[in-house]
Amino acid sequence: MRLYVLSRRKLVISLLVLITVGGLFAVQHSLTTPSLVRAPGTYYKANTQEKVVALTFDDGPDPIDTPSVLDILKEKEVRATFFVLGEAAQSNPILLKRIVLEGHEIGNHSFKHDYQQRHLVEEMNQTDQAVFAATGTHTYFYRPPGGFVSQNQLDTIKKNGHIVALWSVDSKDWRNPGVKQIVDNVMRNVFPGAIILMHDGGYQRTQTVKALGPIIVALRDQGYRLVTLSELKTMDSEIK
Ligand SMILES: [Zn+2]
Repeated sequence: MRLYVLSRRKLVISLLVLITVGGLFAVQHSLTTPSLVRAPGTYYKANTQEKVVALTFDDGPDPIDTPSVLDILKEKEVRATFFVLGEAAQSNPILLKRIVLEGHEIGNHSFKHDYQQRHLVEEMNQTDQAVFAATGTHTYFYRPPGGFVSQNQLDTIKKNGHIVALWSVDSKDWRNPGVKQIVDNVMRNVFPGAIILMHDGGYQRTQTVKALGPIIVALRDQGYRLVTLSELKTMDSEIK
């Protein structure tokens, strides 16, 4: 998510959407981030009773933090989903290859992390090309920078062959609130079918790296299985 750089107009629109959409959703689950717009047609959780969740990492790949995240996932035998930035992907093709070789999924997080997504399709395609060049696979899920997406953008993304994937549990690691707080933010809000937001790039992710192992252990202690976004989607009882 990185820093919020929003025009006043955009902020007002976002707040209005948040109040309308958030009000409805808050009945079911407490809202975990002000940037989250769970518009109809976006994918932010699986409808399932099964204790299964998906860990997602945004803003990488990062030459320092992504390998640390991958090492922990490998040691714990967890597969996750990485929403990469095209420009970071282009600079770190070997890391991208490692992500895929170790069984993880790659999602599209735009090219430059422009919150307003002024060149939405171009950036999405550029990122997809960078991922394809490094790994031979295409991206399927798209996560808009900051989680902001308008209905028009949603339609455009769909037409471009992607599904908008948001999240339902925000670790808030982007605030660097301390390792324990990151673990608590996940464990207090987790539920069957949740998509969990974390970050492996964009800024120093030392706290995320330290919190990841304890999060995996705590989730498993509660009986949760950790899967990729595509796997989670196959368990959704209301697939559209
Ligand atoms: Zn981001």
